Amino acid sequence: MLTINDTKVVHNFNSGPSILPKEVFQQASEAILNFNNTGLSILEIGHRTTLFQEVLDEAVSTLKELMHLDNDLEVLFLHGGASTQFFQVPMNLLNENETAAYLDCGTWGTKAIKEAKLFGNVNMVASSKDKNYSYIPKNYIIPSDSKYFHYTTNNTIEGTQMHSIPETNVPLIADMSSDILSHEMDFNRFSLIYAGAQKNIGAAGVNIVIVKKDILGKVNRKLPTMMDYRVHIENGSMVNTPPVFAVYVCMLTLRWLKQRGGVAEIEKINDIKAKLLYDTIDSLPVFKATVAKEDRSKMNVVFVMENPELEKQFLAECKENGIVAIKGHRSVGGFRASLYNALPLESVQVLTELMKEFANSHG
Ligand SMILES: *Cc1c(COP(=O)(O)O)cnc(C)c1O
Repeated sequence: MLTINDTKVVHNFNSGPSILPKEVFQQASEAILNFNNTGLSILEIGHRTTLFQEVLDEAVSTLKELMHLDNDLEVLFLHGGASTQFFQVPMNLLNENETAAYLDCGTWGTKAIKEAKLFGNVNMVASSKDKNYSYIPKNYIIPSDSKYFHYTTNNTIEGTQMHSIPETNVPLIADMSSDILSHEMDFNRFSLIYAGAQKNIGAAGVNIVIVKKDILGKVNRKLPTMMDYRVHIENGSMVNTPPVFAVYVCMLTLRWLKQRGGVAEIEKINDIKAKLLYDTIDSLPVFKATVAKEDRSKMNVVFVMENPELEKQFLAECKENGIVAIKGHRSVGGFRASLYNALPLESVQVLTELMKEFANSHG
């Protein structure tokens, strides 16, 4: 059987879908051929079998454990990606005559605002659009009569991150797609958290929603069955066929994280990775970070070159050294290095060494 070690060394800085632990790829590929020694593929077993129920149960319980979730928070595995949550959240929570507060601090948050407006009123409490979302707005006011406050914890495209939870007495809702489980935080302060799995948790095709039951059931509109969080809670994420393989990969990745000591331990490594890369950028005059220092993301490091003409050449040298997917998002340009949990420190070391060599020969 082909194993991961037979493949060539690649340093994968993809922003999503992105790198997962090699052990997870190995185990997932084995489960496609022979799941838990059943002689069956994970792809051909019924979702209502004990075999799959155990996978889902372990995914839910491990996530609860890793996030230290209180019992009033329900964990759901749903379809449709984080983008579906942009409208499912207001559909379940916001009446037409009510107002929800939103922070506009990046491309994804802007999309969430657009969808919320289809269901009720949006009060955009602050925006960093004036500077291409290169900072996180501060000192804004969240009116205490807002139905909820929605924000994006980490702006995957622009490379900014909120380093504290906003102080407010209204229910907090966050899109944590690109930094969930990367650092410790008090997840119990949130009424609803959502995240597409394909950045830090698993394979594309499944979406994690964590919700407090007490905020549900308060809108007047009729909800389609598949859009109603309460129905998913009642049915344990099994209203219809879940994306079984994607859930399985999530379970394996969550198990991997738990074995590595959980969020607190991975946070230490994530801090080292981010510090090494930002220190390197700051120390080399040819490179320049694009976002405000205090708002820098530890997951998605965005940087450009003082002389954009050199960018192509650097990209070519990255490729020669096995560094892939480091080209910046088209809206920002330059480079973006995503440092998700599964990316080893060694990959950042290879990148920063190359940056130093490049700066030496082009300084
Ligand atoms: C990737 C991403 C999304 C979109 O996720 P989909 O699963 O593709 O819908 C939304 N929000 C953030 C912060 C993201 O990084």
